This record gives sequence, C-alpha cells and structure tokens, in this order.
Amino acid sequence: MRVIPLGGMGEIGKNLTAIEYGDDIIVIDCGLKFPEEEMLGIDFVIPDVQYLIDNKHKIRGIFLTHGHEDHIGAIPLVLPRLCVPLYGAPLTLALVEHRMLDTRTPYKPSYNNVQPGETVKVGCFEVGFIRVSHSIPDSLAIYVRTPLGVVLHSGDFKLDITPIGGVEGTDLASFAELGKEGVTLLLSDSTNSERSGFTASESIVSRTFEDVFRRYKDNRIVIAAFASNLYRASQVFTIAARFNRKVMLVGRSMISYVELARKLDYINVSSDLLITPQDAERLPPNRMVVLTTGSQGEPFSGLVLMSKGEHRQIRLGEKDIVVISATPIPGNEKLVSNTVNRLFACGCDVIYERDAEVHASGHASREEQKILLNLVKPKYFMPVHGEYRHLMRHSQLASEMGIPARNIFVLQNGDTLELDPSGGARPGLRVSAGSVLVDGVMLGEFEGSLLRERKELSESGILAISLVIDDEYRLAAELQIDSRGSVYGFDRGNMRPDIEAAAVSALENVRAGAVDREVLATEIRKKVRDVIGKNYRAYPGIMPLISMIGTGREARPQEGAKRTRKPGRPRRSGNTKKPG
Ligand SMILES: [Zn+2]
Ligand SMILES: [Zn+2]
Repeated sequence: MRVIPLGGMGEIGKNLTAIEYGDDIIVIDCGLKFPEEEMLGIDFVIPDVQYLIDNKHKIRGIFLTHGHEDHIGAIPLVLPRLCVPLYGAPLTLALVEHRMLDTRTPYKPSYNNVQPGETVKVGCFEVGFIRVSHSIPDSLAIYVRTPLGVVLHSGDFKLDITPIGGVEGTDLASFAELGKEGVTLLLSDSTNSERSGFTASESIVSRTFEDVFRRYKDNRIVIAAFASNLYRASQVFTIAARFNRKVMLVGRSMISYVELARKLDYINVSSDLLITPQDAERLPPNRMVVLTTGSQGEPFSGLVLMSKGEHRQIRLGEKDIVVISATPIPGNEKLVSNTVNRLFACGCDVIYERDAEVHASGHASREEQKILLNLVKPKYFMPVHGEYRHLMRHSQLASEMGIPARNIFVLQNGDTLELDPSGGARPGLRVSAGSVLVDGVMLGEFEGSLLRERKELSESGILAISLVIDDEYRLAAELQIDSRGSVYGFDRGNMRPDIEAAAVSALENVRAGAVDREVLATEIRKKVRDVIGKNYRAYPGIMPLISMIGTGREARPQEGAKRTRKPGRPRRSGNTKKPG
C-alpha cells in the first residue's frame, strides 16, 4: 500500500493525498493554492496530477473533507480529466457544484452525499467519516479501512468544546473508538503546530461582537470576514437582530455563500433582516451592519474598495467602525496592513487582529493535536497541511507523545510512504508532482517562459517596431515605433534616430546577403538591442513587426516575431501615429 501526498506538504494549500492498494486508488481532497508574489498575473495554483491521470482507471473516487478552496478548488480543472465520483458532505458538494457552474465546465460530476457515522465501500477500501469542528460547517475527518489497517486523515480540525449555533463539535468518541480498533497511520493537520495551548472557541467571537455593538451604538458597523466562515456570518445575523440592526451583504462571494447556506438550511436568517443597498440608503447608519469580504486585503474585495473610496454603495467616514474578523493568512500581511492604513485615513475606527478577540482560528493548536494523537494512538504518523516548519514542529510533538522517530514520516509532495503486509513502513519511490499555474482558463507549467517574460516586461517594458518593406528589403514607409513600460516612452526624441538606423542597417545586411532573410526579425532585434543598450542602458523586450508590400505576399513568418499581419486585414495603428 502506498500513501502519496501530491499537494499540501511544505505549503498551506492545494491539498491532495492519494491512497493506493493493488488496483485501487482513492483520493482525499483536491485543492488550490493562491499564487506567490513572484507569480505575476497567475490566478491560482493547482497540484500536478499526472500520476493520477496515468492511473485513472484505478481511482475509485475523490473524498472531500470540507468546502475550503485549499481542499476543493482544483476540482473543476482536475475532475474532468479523471472522470471519477465525488464524495462529501452536503455543503461541501454544494460548494463544488457552485464552483463548477462558475467555471462553466460542461462536465457533470457524480455527486455522492455522505454523513458522519456512515461508511462507503469502494474497491478494497471502506471509507468512513467523523464530524470535526473547523471554520466552515460540514467538516469531516476521513478514515479508510484498508487491507493493511486503518488510515485516518484528520482533515482541517480543532476541538471546539463550545461551538456556536447548537452545532455539535468534534466527535471525540468516534476518534477514541477508532483508536481502540487500531490506527495504522494518522495524517494530521499541522497548520497551528507552532501555537501552544488550545485554539479559542468560535463562541468567543460572539462576545467580542456584542461588546462592539454596545460600545459603538451610534455608529455604522462594518464587519469583514471570510465568506466561507458561515459561523461568523450567522453570529453577525444573531447579534444584529438582537441589537435591532439590519444586515447588508457586500462582496460577490459573501452574497453567494450566504445564499447557498440559507438554501441548504445551514443559516437561519429571516428575510427582513437582510437589506439591499437601496434599503440601506433609507436607514440611519446606526441601524445597520455591513458584512463584507476583504478580510485578507484582497484587491477588488468589498472592504478594499471601501477603503479606497471606490465602492459604489458604501462611503466610509468618521461615523463608521470597521471590524476585521480574521487574521492574515501568511503572505497577506502587507495587503491587510495597507487596508488598515487606508481605513484609518478614511476617518473611521478600526478593530483588527491584535486588539481584541475578533477571530478564532479553525485549526487545532498543540494541546488539541496531542489529544487527537492520544485518542487515536497511531502506529505511524505523517504531519500534513503545513509549511515545512509546521510539519517539523508537529512531528516533534508526535515524538514527545511517544511515537518512535522511525515511525514518523515528514514527506514532500510526490514522496510516497509504503506500508507492507508484515507491518513495516518506509519511504518508497517518488512519483511526479509539482505545481500547475492557472491564468484565466489556461493552465500549464508556465514557470519557464510565461513568468520569465512577465518579469522582463515588468522590469524593462517592451518596444514594438513596425516596418513596411518592399520585396527589395527596403523601407517602404516610415518606421513606426511604440512602447509600453519602456524608457523609450520618455526619451523617444533622442532614441528614434538610433533605432531607425539600427533597423535600416539590419535590412542592409539582408540585402547584402550577409544575413539570411529568414532571420530578419532576429537581426533587427539584435541591432536595436545593441544600440539602445549601449547608448541608453535600456533593455526592453524588442518586438519587430514586419510586413511586405509590392508583391502581394506577406513577409514569411519571422522566427521569434510574436505577431505578423494576417492577409487582408488592415493593421491597427494603435498609438504609432503619435508625433516623434
Ligand atoms: Zn479548511
Ligand atoms: Zn485547509
């Protein structure tokens, strides 16, 4: 048997783990990751699933722990290539369905609802589900009875003893029962393995909100939270009703998550509590609450637009109090900090992470991780869902709990853990794994060319040179030059003669037979680069666009030329007509 993490190791995001025995594979989660700063223009990142595609005839299903993006976000792109059934709790599957519609893929998945306590037989596996608390309803731990014992995946969890809204918390009894049955391998959430003690209960946030509502009774209250944290939304609704305020939802994802949760009965909110922007205009500010996206400082989110004064309905000012009910995800600190700065500059008061208990994490801290280890008593342990340091701290904790170091495996994406019938376990051969970058609807291994080009463009810009030549390779019209993000734009008066001379000398070389006609574009690029590099120390990307007249034929496609004119279509002149 092999356990193969293809994502989520050494990173927070794109969680995906495969379990393989003989001719059967099951997959747990299929998430995405948000791009690193240097991935210019990339929308998100998904795991490389080549291994699964190569073995798709073996895959019996994808099982989902919960509906967060880092667990379901890659499904619209991965599932149509695997064509296997999906299993998950109702809210999780509804969120997948919503994403499928959003991405407009024609693929129709086979959705299979599962409940805690239930088991499903697929291939040689029996898969079961245990309820856990997390920052989204319907979160599950998943256990798999395999021919070589039980493999338990904690999912994202915490042990909230006082969860809100009458929701039951993590089902400790079921974990204990599984521990009695015997767990061969535990894979457990490492996100908060650097935090000692216990993670705060979601219900403390209610108390903080109440304080805010009491203290700022004359102000409009704006609360920013994760759209997927429906517990948070439901607390806002309850408290708003109690303080006789109406709630206006702002942000596309906030509106759609709340709508979905109401439809599926995860949130109980009366229709007259929610108001439209038009209703809001007629209401005194201290009779309303705005619940918005943007707690991570995401560009174009509700709160960020408000902080820039660019939101169509909400103008913030001295009469407003803003509560950011979240902590920044690692990497988002700067965005959040900028947003807080702008909010203060609008004149409003801001309550954010350090001030008060305005947020409770959804992940177990060290004491909770210990409790899980203690209840389950696994033979082998594999920390998952964390950057490398989180995985290491979690593995140290497991060895403090008495698991021998040789039974703890810190793996990377694509590593495998092999378990054999005699009860042994060891790292096996690696399989292909990595990141696939997604830009719009395009996906691919872009790192090599696309990102390098974008980086070059961001540093030096681009210079386009359009030449119309006759069949003697002489200029037949004035040279057109245009640029974006290049110093040429600022110094075109001086640079133009140099560029023109360089292009003309490239044409001369072709006429003289010193340079092959086929590589005219390359020759122009080289000549122009040399001259402006030498004279101006500028190194923009150079894009020669060559068209031929007089013979009725096009210049042959130039090696490396990005665009050539299509026959019969007039060239758009763009800005090239500008003087100089
Ligand atoms: Zn989660
Ligand atoms: Zn997660």
